Amino acid sequence: MFHLFLAALLTALATPSPAPAHFDVLISAGHEGRPESCPRFPNHHCNLGTPGERAWTPVVADEAARVLRAEGYTVAREPADFDGQYDVRAAIFIHFDGTERPCTSGASIGYHTVASQPAAELWRKEYSAAFPFKFQHDNFTRNLSDYYGFRQVHASDGALVLELGELTCPAQKAWLEPRLLWEGRFIAGFVRQLLGNANTQ
Ligand SMILES: [Zn+2]
Repeated sequence: MFHLFLAALLTALATPSPAPAHFDVLISAGHEGRPESCPRFPNHHCNLGTPGERAWTPVVADEAARVLRAEGYTVAREPADFDGQYDVRAAIFIHFDGTERPCTSGASIGYHTVASQPAAELWRKEYSAAFPFKFQHDNFTRNLSDYYGFRQVHASDGALVLELGELTCPAQKAWLEPRLLWEGRFIAGFVRQLLGNANTQ
């Protein structure tokens, strides 16, 4: 096993890394494409998400990408695991939370550096006005602050993991279920506002 790992590492080191791909926005659907993609990404934890999450994140991500593209933004729409590096203005990794003790969580935001803090503040302001349940403090788990996807993006205006609510909480799930397309449009509106703010600075 270690030999295989070493061989993969040496191959990776010997392969020149291509230049980053440029887009306005990267939108990744949490857990999408797993478990099929896991063998190709042995250094990613093959987390399949909370029950139901993998079916919902692509619906939200597709709608957000569709709306942003219709408005003229370039969008890299990625599943959970993807190759390469991205240079973007905003990166959004879409998730839903799940807990062992139902209804102890809710919406939350993850980011890796203070450069993404203004984006996080804007999302909290917007989403907390619409989402009628608990909102965790930023980066309340290490999975949020050290999210593996952050390593593959440089996002000038912010890179955020957005947990849209807790699927193990029946009331939150019932609220979210008819709103998946709305969530996608809401995220698109947030991105538009984020990039618009940056433009005028
Ligand atoms: Zn998740």
